[in-house]
Amino acid sequence: MTQFKSKTIAVRTGIESDTQYGSVVPPICLSTNFGFSSFGHPNKYDYSRSGNPTRSLLEKTLYKLEHGEGAVITNSGMSALNLLVSAMVGPDDLIVAPMDCYGGSYRLLNSRAKKRDFKVLFIDQTSPKEVELALAQMPKLILLETPSNPLLRVVDITEICGLAKKIGALVAVDNTFLSPIYQTPITLGADFVIHSTTKYLNGHSDVIGGVVISETKELANEIVWWGNCIGATGTAFDSYLTLRGIRTLHPRMKLHEENTKRILAYLKKQPLIKTLYHPILASHIGHSIAERQQQGYGCMISFELVGSSPQLEVFINELKLFSLAESLGGVESLICHPATMTHRAMGAEALRNVGISQNLLRLSVGLEDADDLIQDLDHAFKLVQSNLSKIE
Ligand code: PLP
Repeated sequence: MTQFKSKTIAVRTGIESDTQYGSVVPPICLSTNFGFSSFGHPNKYDYSRSGNPTRSLLEKTLYKLEHGEGAVITNSGMSALNLLVSAMVGPDDLIVAPMDCYGGSYRLLNSRAKKRDFKVLFIDQTSPKEVELALAQMPKLILLETPSNPLLRVVDITEICGLAKKIGALVAVDNTFLSPIYQTPITLGADFVIHSTTKYLNGHSDVIGGVVISETKELANEIVWWGNCIGATGTAFDSYLTLRGIRTLHPRMKLHEENTKRILAYLKKQPLIKTLYHPILASHIGHSIAERQQQGYGCMISFELVGSSPQLEVFINELKLFSLAESLGGVESLICHPATMTHRAMGAEALRNVGISQNLLRLSVGLEDADDLIQDLDHAFKLVQSNLSKIE
């Protein structure tokens, strides 16, 4: 598959690979176990926790799309991060992570550090000074999440990987927000890419999954060993659905981004927005880095609404085409209030330090008609305006 471009890899993966019936779409293999050919001679697969044909196909597709050498599909994005740290760090090792990462990643790293499984330092990775001080502590692993969730901060992957190499640290990038269509961190120097495949990769909000992709075969082998050891691997059924989702990843991402641009053009003129966050905006922190290192700006938008909790309530409740729900990256548009939903686990103090305010809202722009989405937002903003006028 290596000679093909990513669109072809995504669409053609496993097509016509069935030798039994010649089925065009690769069949799903649900078996938990596989017979030995004879005593002492296992076949390619023996037990689905350690390896499964349907999961293998998804793993191969993803490491090809991300320019890696191996991958392990896990049963959630969180278990991908958990697998990575289980495999790569021990009690004496330090992990440097972004202070504004996904709330669940923050909780996982913080909770395991409290159990002394490793040490963790959360920093503002957009600050060269903080990065320099953190690297002086000789971390074993640097985790990046760019653009970050929910403030969409962008960090320079090439630069941090260059600094990390000098001190022998490994770099892992959570690429969930962009997918390999818009960013391929391994080509920028990363050792690992992780994803919540729950999001854009599957794209239909019906699978919880994750992946750890490794730059080298050696690292991949270690991750595979640990994936089996701790039982982090994903199911065949979920892998089948995710493969199906990936076949339309390119056109979906393109449409998500077209709609995002239309919505941003509307939101930029909206007086009830205090701050608008998106890497395409020239005013956005890291805009020029995004321009350089990303092939697209992404399809998530965050903004601070004018007012307080009653106005947030009016706004959210009036929306008909943005479902109030966790998660992102599906075909349907969503709205989320990070402080009480996705990032609640961080606690009030960490939220404050990071800059996730009570007024912050996050949109996952779906594939509905952009005119309808804008009309829906416009209606909700108008009701917030009339609510504010009544109070004045
Ligand atoms: N990484 C990012 C950037 C996320 O947004 C999420 C979930 O929202 C995760 C990891 C965790 O993934 P999962 O929910 O599949 O465990």
